[in-house]
Amino acid sequence: MADFGADVELEDFRAEAAAWLKANFPAALAGKAAMSTDRAGTGDIAKWRKAIGEKGWATPTWPAEYGGGGLSPAQARVLAQEMAKIGAFNPLMFGMGVTMIGPTIMDYGTDVQKKTHLPPIIRGEVQWCVGYSEPGAGSDLASLQTKAVDNGNGWTINGQKTWTSGAQYSDWCGCLVRTDPSAKKHDGISFMLIDMHQKEIETRPIALIAGASPFCETFFTDAKAPKDALLGQLNVGWTVGKRLLQHERASQTGASMGGRAVSLDQIAKNYVELDAGGRIADLDLRTRLTRHLMDAKVHGLTLARAMAEAKGNADPGNAPSVLKNSATNVAQTRAELTLEIFGHQGLGWEGAEFTREELETVRGWLGGKAMSIYGGSSEIQNNIISKRILGLPDNTQST
Ligand SMILES: Cc1cc2nc3c(=O)[nH]c(=O)nc-3n(C[C@H](O)[C@H](O)[C@H](O)COP(=O)(O)OP(=O)(O)OC[C@H]3O[C@@H](n4cnc5c(N)ncnc54)[C@H](O)[C@@H]3O)c2cc1C
Repeated sequence: MADFGADVELEDFRAEAAAWLKANFPAALAGKAAMSTDRAGTGDIAKWRKAIGEKGWATPTWPAEYGGGGLSPAQARVLAQEMAKIGAFNPLMFGMGVTMIGPTIMDYGTDVQKKTHLPPIIRGEVQWCVGYSEPGAGSDLASLQTKAVDNGNGWTINGQKTWTSGAQYSDWCGCLVRTDPSAKKHDGISFMLIDMHQKEIETRPIALIAGASPFCETFFTDAKAPKDALLGQLNVGWTVGKRLLQHERASQTGASMGGRAVSLDQIAKNYVELDAGGRIADLDLRTRLTRHLMDAKVHGLTLARAMAEAKGNADPGNAPSVLKNSATNVAQTRAELTLEIFGHQGLGWEGAEFTREELETVRGWLGGKAMSIYGGSSEIQNNIISKRILGLPDNTQST
């Protein structure tokens, strides 16, 4: 039997969320999510950040005691839907505090660490980066060599990280370091919260062919961290580090998105020839588009089911590996199909002959290639699915 009480509660919340958004989201920002990728900002964007930060709705399911929204996952989904409806966006998604570090601090942090680090993340006052990958440690992360040595007063850190997203703008780094080089590869690793504001840490942005530098090489030369910088216990950082990756994958499943405003078949109808019945005339394109729309729908429904089954359980488990691969597949296929549908208009990089949406699609298509690499590549997710979900024999130590 349907739980009418729960439905009523959600409809009440939907009305509350819509009213709050109407009063606080500056209408001039509708659809301008791209403006929110860093902390710099004035006027409307600064106002929006302050309002949502104080309300706690940039971290809707985080505990209210630290300033989070205190919402259930279902309420958070409703909030995301209401935001999508009016082109609102989460302006505090810069850096990795909200998606990865904060949830991991909630899982493993001491009371002091929670009280110190969570409120500034919730209010969008600090930026975090994640220092995992090294030149010799990517998928095989446990090969990492950056060392932290106990100097009596705290830790001295030496080594190099790479692909550290946003390190050049970050205040803090959640870092995996080797604290016992004599232990086995997956042991002797610790998770450390490192203050980036010290001259012993140098960030060198890696320039991409398109000019942007989203990530850095990060060098630690006698960098320092206090004794209580450990998140979780000494030498069991592998466990903490895996949990952070589960949170990262959970943030890449599309769960925080309220859905696309314009369906791809609607976009297609503005670009390609239609038959007498108003359908896309090219049967092959129509078939592939239909398959994609079905995949997207199935992904959305599976996501909703996974969230309902989780019932607020904060442990993301291994299901995000399935959902991350599925979200990647849906997003990359949508981008490929959109470019194909645009035809020549899907070849632009700049210029007045292209619309903003066309240019953004090209950049999104290129940027979207990274989805199957970061947070653990698609092949690594397949390894996790086969080992940890399907229980198939272990043939790798790298996940
Ligand atoms: C946009 C972007 C942002 C990133 N941000 C960060 C960040 O902020 N912090 C950070 O620490 N890192 C970051 N990374 C690095 C990312 O985590 C690594 O690139 C990723 O883990 C893969 O490691 P690798 O590049 O060394 O590739 P490799 O590990 O060398 O893999 C190369 C290929 O081999 C495959 N492969 C490797 N091992 C296996 C296996 N056991 N079974 C099957 N196939 C395998 C991989 O799937 C891949 O296709 C970022 C990467 C990108 C693209």
